Amino acid sequence: MSTETILILGGSFAGLSAAHWALKHVLPQLPKKEGVTYNVTVVNPSKDLYWRIAAPRACASKEMMPASKIFYPIEPAFTYAFPKFKFVQGSATHVDPAGQTVSVATVEGEQLSIPYAALVIATGWSTPSPLFTQSTDRAALEQVYNAFQANLKNAKSIVVGGGGPVGVETAGEISELLNGKPGFFASAPKNPKAKVTLVCGDKKLLPVLREAIGKDAQQFLKRVGCDVVYNTKVVGSSKLGSEEGAKTKVELSNGESLEADIYIDATGMRPNTGFLPKEWLDNRNKVACNPKTLRVEHESAGPRIYVVGDVGSYTRGGVMDQALAIPVAMTNLRTDLIAHLNGTVPGGDRHYEPNLKESQVVPIGTQKGVGAFNGNKLPSQMVWMLKGRDYMIGMMAQPTLRGDQYKKEGKWTPVVSSQVGLSSG
Ligand SMILES: Cc1cc2nc3c(=O)[nH]c(=O)nc-3n(C[C@H](O)[C@H](O)[C@H](O)COP(=O)(O)OP(=O)(O)OC[C@H]3O[C@@H](n4cnc5c(N)ncnc54)[C@H](O)[C@@H]3O)c2cc1C
Repeated sequence: MSTETILILGGSFAGLSAAHWALKHVLPQLPKKEGVTYNVTVVNPSKDLYWRIAAPRACASKEMMPASKIFYPIEPAFTYAFPKFKFVQGSATHVDPAGQTVSVATVEGEQLSIPYAALVIATGWSTPSPLFTQSTDRAALEQVYNAFQANLKNAKSIVVGGGGPVGVETAGEISELLNGKPGFFASAPKNPKAKVTLVCGDKKLLPVLREAIGKDAQQFLKRVGCDVVYNTKVVGSSKLGSEEGAKTKVELSNGESLEADIYIDATGMRPNTGFLPKEWLDNRNKVACNPKTLRVEHESAGPRIYVVGDVGSYTRGGVMDQALAIPVAMTNLRTDLIAHLNGTVPGGDRHYEPNLKESQVVPIGTQKGVGAFNGNKLPSQMVWMLKGRDYMIGMMAQPTLRGDQYKKEGKWTPVVSSQVGLSSG
């Protein structure tokens, strides 16, 4: 008896979607062979999907965004596929493409070596601030939030570094929580409790959106007592003491510095690729792949390795883009795997086409927000309806967990490309 495994590293938006797709549309089509079983195995450090999208509100207040709304147990969402679905709580530490195995350190302290017939890398990225990343398990992140919220209560000065959506949303949530909801016509709070400063490296907020929308965001931030400093980067930060609640000195690229009770680093992303061979990565440390087929094609990678989600070089990121990418990577995986198992030449590829239209939705506090969808500017009320009221939890959390979006494999036309022979074997 042997088992052929589709191994998925990372159990967040991309990894879980890839697992549902594999269970629904890959396993049923694999050749039935005497003594061979197939399974889908997901490796993830936490047992729970973390609804990272809601982190700006969750970090600010557990009354407004309780833990029960941001953590969702993974395994129960796959009971329909037991025993073909397996979950391993741990982290991948090494990939051996020659032996087609991945080393995994489990939370129990075991070292596993998991063989794969096909490998999907979906390990995403971490943030410099611990507020926006579930690095280990739910309990650890809840502790981070508890400690942060205890400090936030008494904070009089807060600096947020980074003028992207994470910085803007977090500054908005925190400012509104501390300074209150503004009056209907007020352009700023009368007696703000805290001075909140958002430091933006660019000349405008929200790089993906047009400048006019960035200006609206600034106005909404001002209403809840947050000032924006433009064209300035945070170049360093250091605690001014070792005691609990010590201030932080935030050094800026213009040579000035700010002292703050709390500094939140919302700049940039760090791809979770430290466990992969350096030569598989691009110059941003993302996994380099064929931008059409999402195969990892470095010669040392060997056959049947794919990348999905924000860790891939093919994408500018975001959950919506995954709906375009997951079916592509998984269809190509299926084509390659069937050819490998049958000893035949694979058929045509499915190709990924990104949607590069201006699309981003950014709540600013619990009432306002800015954004655009498919190139059309959204009114603040629409941003609230889509995202600001509950960070899309009601609309998307359970369907995401269950993989509802991937019930059908979707229409596609095979493309015969020169890469096909190169990437399968
Ligand atoms: C505050 C915030 C708000 C956001 N809001 C939005 C939004 O409104 N809309 C939107 O589209 N996007 C939003 N994003 C971006 C969105 O969260 C990402 O696009 C999404 O999380 C990417 O999913 P992913 O599965 O590729 O990676 P991740 O969500 O980063 O998940 C990667 C998973 O892999 C695990 N992992 C890491 N290393 C290993 C390893 N060695 N072995 C095994 N597992 C590993 C991680 O623990 C994690 O579970 C937001 C991001 C942040 C931080």
